[in-house]
Amino acid sequence: MQTKEEALDRLAKSKFRSSFHLTAADRAYVEEKGMDTIRRHAEDFVRQKLAPSHPVNDGKQTPMHGHPVFKAMHATACCCRGCLNKWYRVPLGVPLSEDLQNRIVGFLTAWIERQMEDGNRKYK
Ligand SMILES: [Zn+2]
Repeated sequence: MQTKEEALDRLAKSKFRSSFHLTAADRAYVEEKGMDTIRRHAEDFVRQKLAPSHPVNDGKQTPMHGHPVFKAMHATACCCRGCLNKWYRVPLGVPLSEDLQNRIVGFLTAWIERQMEDGNRKYK
């Protein structure tokens, strides 16, 4: 994986990936829960949906909305093993290491934090 900043800049050039944004309701949810809780949710989703060698329903396991972390997963191409492979050369068919899971979680929360800052700039 490249650095978070490099990856976020590369994703910003993708029409599909850059079409995801946190809505006012998403931002209110993040603010209500706090980033520590959001990070724990991200850890759970990554462990359940991405970490197994062959995730259940791979390619369709991440809803398009319903939780800010789901949007972050699509926006960062961390939504399924196919996208992780295509964007970050993460090998298919093997479980994700703890280290890689932590890096993905760090990346998801960085995207959410950026969105929170953008939202606050735009709507205050
Ligand atoms: Zn995907």
